[in-house]
Parts: sequence; structure tokens; C-alpha cells
Amino acid sequence: MVKNNLLIKEKIASKPKYWLRLSYACNNNCLFCLDKEAQSNNEQFVSEKDLQSEIKQALKEGYRKIILSGGEPTIHPRFLHLVKFCQNLGFERIQIITNGRMLAYRKFARQTLISGVNEVTFSLHGLDAQTHDYLVGVEGAYDQLIQGLHNIRASNCIINIDIVLNKKNIKQVHEIIDFFSKNYSIYEYDLLHLIPFGNAFKNLSNLVLSYKDYQQKSWQKVLTLAKNDKRYFIWTNRLPAQYLEDHEALIQDPHKLSDELKGRRHMFENYLQNNKELACKDGQRCAFCFLHDFCLKLSQFKENINYKPKYNIKFLTQKNLNELNSNNLIVAIKNFEFLEKLKDQTVNLDEFKNKTKNGNLKFINLPYCLAGQNNQVVYDFLIYLPKVLNNKKQIDLHKFAKMYISNLYYLKSVRCDDCKYNNQCAGWHINYLRYYGFKILKPVK
Ligand code: SF4
Ligand code: SF4
Repeated sequence: MVKNNLLIKEKIASKPKYWLRLSYACNNNCLFCLDKEAQSNNEQFVSEKDLQSEIKQALKEGYRKIILSGGEPTIHPRFLHLVKFCQNLGFERIQIITNGRMLAYRKFARQTLISGVNEVTFSLHGLDAQTHDYLVGVEGAYDQLIQGLHNIRASNCIINIDIVLNKKNIKQVHEIIDFFSKNYSIYEYDLLHLIPFGNAFKNLSNLVLSYKDYQQKSWQKVLTLAKNDKRYFIWTNRLPAQYLEDHEALIQDPHKLSDELKGRRHMFENYLQNNKELACKDGQRCAFCFLHDFCLKLSQFKENINYKPKYNIKFLTQKNLNELNSNNLIVAIKNFEFLEKLKDQTVNLDEFKNKTKNGNLKFINLPYCLAGQNNQVVYDFLIYLPKVLNNKKQIDLHKFAKMYISNLYYLKSVRCDDCKYNNQCAGWHINYLRYYGFKILKPVK
């Protein structure tokens, strides 16, 4: 059953925060940098004028938290002015994501805090200088980060740590968390799975972690820590959700997918409106990409733009469960965008199973193992097509993303490989798997 901390995380994750990229340039050269292509295709620093108008617009749209990122935001020549600008406009929370090297300069660190930064996320990737410096490509980067940490921790500023998980540091990840919580009282960690862009694509085979790699002892200790020690706030980022079976509280909130889309919005809009192929499409890359299923379903919708639903579908919630009978042509258990709603409205599964055990029902978008052997299942996500079209009968990216998160985001367990329905089954909606745990899926022999 859903845990309270999962609902708390949902609340935090759905609080609006505005991501602002200050710079494409960086003073590190990380082996897994996602930004390498963007660095050569753009001006190093976004102009102060453009940034100021974006900041004003974000405030107008109601954002009160702003996250300044890059590249490396602290090397933007107008960094301190921009922070001050955010503070003067009235942002309540100003966070930076940084490699921490500039903060090693005491005066600069002090000015950063005075200008208004009140949350600092350090990107730290190794327990020791050897590992961290190797991964970020700069000798001395670890020592500077640690000095930066010392300069910041004297203040009331919130401090947390991002770690990009990879083959070189996965064996240390528990030790990193243990060390920085004991010595620096840092209890919030964002653990990122690699995605195949920039340098990370070039170095993929040396760095990217498989399901097997995530069986490492150190990672398993992190999972246990996150489950049992209430002091820690541990997030995962882009980590395949099926790798977190039994630890579903760590699955990233599905709404984070919208952040992934923000940076690629123009590419997707060009694809939808002008039929321009997605620039990053590449078999090898797509197979490892966090947006893999999103892109597949988007192209399926685009190719079937004239589809007309041929079913009369009844969507079940606990309220209308009694109306379930074999006269309903086809039946779906309603999906929910938020766990909070799912918890209050979805069907009671025991009751549902009892009512459906006699068979002769036809289900849509429900895993075979839950539909019951005597009933039929059909997967058809195109039933949602009318909800994602604009008035020109084209797919609207924003509507599609919302629909994807609410209804199309389906997953299976790693164990599904052993199920006889594996090839024809799409699994179940992510929020059901977060709510019940992947264990609800039972491979059929
Ligand atoms: S899955 Fe989509 S976003 Fe990811 S690399 Fe392929 S085309 Fe690009
Ligand atoms: S075990 Fe997996 S593949 Fe098999 S029916 Fe259930 S969800 Fe589908």
C-alpha cells in the first residue's frame, strides 16, 4: 500500500519550480556531461537581457522557486547580478546546481549567499579526489568542491548533493552518502542515472549501469537506508522504475518527465508541426533514453492521426464498480495522474477480482495477469487521441505530455521476461505500480 513518504514526495515534486539555464559553458569536463553538443552549438553564456526577461516571465507565471543551472551557472560573468535580480523580484527560493569550484573562493561564496542563493546543490561524483577528479576531468576539482562546501555550510543555506551514478562510482555510493551525512550533515541526495547525450553517449559502454550493476552491495545499502532511515531524503532521477521493485517510494515522480521535455520542446514541436525527424533519433541512443517509450507512443499517435475509437469503453472507479457486467463492451480501470486521487477513487482490487473471475469480459489497457485468465485483454492507447489534438487536428505537445503522464505511462517488472504474455503485454500504469508495488504483476507460466 502507498506510503506516506511517497505522498509527501508527490507534493514536493509537484510544487512549481522554474529551471533557468545561465550558461552552456563549464569549467569541468565530465565524462558523462549531457551538454557537450549544446556547448558547441550555442553561445557560452545566455545574455543577461534574455535571462532577465525570462526571470520576469517566470515570476509572472507564478513561480516562486527558481533553479539556476548550466553548464556551470557560477561562471556566468553576471552570475551575482542575476541572483540579486531574482532576489529583488521576490523569488522565495533561489537554488543553484553547481560543481562547487567557484565557491572555493571565500569572497565569491559569501557574495553568492548575500545576493540571495538559499539552496546549493553540489554535483559530487566520488568518495575521494581520485574518483571525482577522473569523472569530472579536472585535477583538483574535488578539493575545490570540498572547500566550497565549507564556505557555504557556515550559513543557513540548504545543501544537498547530486551524484551521477556510473560504473566507476556505484561501489562507493553508500559510502559517499554515509561520509557526507556524518561529516557535513547532508541528508538530501539526488541520484541520477545516465542518459545517452553529449559525452555520456560517447562513453556509454564504460559508464552506464545495467540492472545487474544495480545489484551491487553499496547500491542495495542505499535502498535500505532510504527505506529505513527517516533522516534521509533520497531522490532518484531517470533511473528505470522497474529497477526499483520493492523500493517503489524511490521511483521518480512521473511529472519530472515534463522537465526532460522542456529542453527539447522545439525539436518535438518541429516534429509534430513540420514533420521534421527528431534530431537525436539514433537506435543505439534511443534504447538507453529516458524518453524512449514517450517517443514511441508520440510517433504512434502521429502516424494514426485519423484513428477513430471503435470501442464503447466503461472506465471503472470504486463508485461504479457495481455496474460492471458482461454487457459492458469493453472495460478499463481508470488511470490517475496523481497518487492522491488514485488512493481515494480507484477500485478495490479484491472486489474487482471477485466480480471478474467468471470471465466473458473484455478489458482494455490492463495487464493480462490482473485481468484474469477467463477474460480478454486488448491494449490500445490510441483511445486517448481525441484528448491530445489541437483545433488544427494536430497533436499538441503539452496536451500529449499531460495525457502520457496521466494515462499512457506504462511499465512492466524485470520479472515480466518470464511471462508468457510478455510480448503482447504493456504492463500497467506507473501510478498503480507505485501504489501497489511491482509485486502486483505476476508472470504467467
Ligand atoms: S528516445 Fe526520443 S528523445 Fe530519446 S534519443 Fe531517441 S528520439 Fe531522442
Ligand atoms: S507479468 Fe508482466 S508481462 Fe505478464 S501479464 Fe503481468 S504485466 Fe504482463
